[in-house]
Amino acid sequence: MTERKIPAPSISPENKAYFDAAAQGKLLIRKCGGCGEVHHYPRSICPFCFSDKTEWQDAKGTGTIYTYSVLRRGVPVPYCIAYVTLEEGVSMLTNIVDCDLDAVRIGQKVKVTFKPSDGGPPVPMFTPA
Ligand SMILES: [Zn+2]
Repeated sequence: MTERKIPAPSISPENKAYFDAAAQGKLLIRKCGGCGEVHHYPRSICPFCFSDKTEWQDAKGTGTIYTYSVLRRGVPVPYCIAYVTLEEGVSMLTNIVDCDLDAVRIGQKVKVTFKPSDGGPPVPMFTPA
């Protein structure tokens, strides 16, 4: 089986700590000190209340598949793109990897895994738990 090449994410001041943590096998989310909501993708301003009192929090790295789509046409290697809802309650757009793509189901329990990218830091993805 051919491995899909994962494009390197573009690093910004807002997401640098996120990818530094990913390089150490840790998944981070942002939590707002103003309203208490967690969010993803990392931003320094809370998307719910626009507070700038957001900080990093360790995520457990487990969640469930909210929705997904398997891409097979026009791509060199088929892959599964999905929204995974973390135990912390926030959803992230990600890929489901290292499994039979025909067996992926909504509501399936998944856990984080880190996939090397093409010349960049590893990227958090999910695999069946
Ligand atoms: Zn907030």
